[in-house]
Amino acid sequence: MIEVHLGDITRLHVDVIVNAANQRLLGGGGVDGAIHRAAGPQLLEACRQIGGCPVGEVRVTPGFRLPVKRIYHTVGPVWRGGSLGEPELLASCYRHCFNLARRENIHSIAFPAISCGVYDYPPELAVEIAVEQVQSHLDRDGGPRHVVFCCFDEEMAELYRMQLDTVVRR
Ligand code: ADP
Repeated sequence: MIEVHLGDITRLHVDVIVNAANQRLLGGGGVDGAIHRAAGPQLLEACRQIGGCPVGEVRVTPGFRLPVKRIYHTVGPVWRGGSLGEPELLASCYRHCFNLARRENIHSIAFPAISCGVYDYPPELAVEIAVEQVQSHLDRDGGPRHVVFCCFDEEMAELYRMQLDTVVRR
């Protein structure tokens, strides 16, 4: 099942929430800041010990004060026009999250709109990649069965709904 949810990702009761982090994993603004505030200071300590994450990869921490089993910290690409590997790197974020979720026996996972905030990825293009990746990994080999696209604003939610409609009708 794929669900589009409008609201704060830190309020979701799922097995895993994905953080759109930065390479240093030391917190920041946007969804990263919200997750750190809600999870509490132990999250920053755990991230410090991990030491960072390359673009397109994922690192895992506990949920601490959040009602989730795990937080997956992935680092999306900064949009620089699209010819510097941005689409492959964004797809790689989703792929790594699914691979890890499969290994960890995770049933439900919620993604924010990775790279669509300060990293400036054009939302229409990011949503295409997100939906394509989720569709190709959903329910495969014991991986997650329930995916939530968590959007902070209605415009973003509408883009996901439209993309999901197009793909289903294809
Ligand atoms: P990035 O650095 O990857 O661009 P941002 O955090 O700046 O990440 O933005 C990614 C997306 O997350 C944006 O669409 C933004 O509106 C959204 N967002 C910000 N705060 C939250 C939150 N608390 N829950 C869910 N989504 C959020």
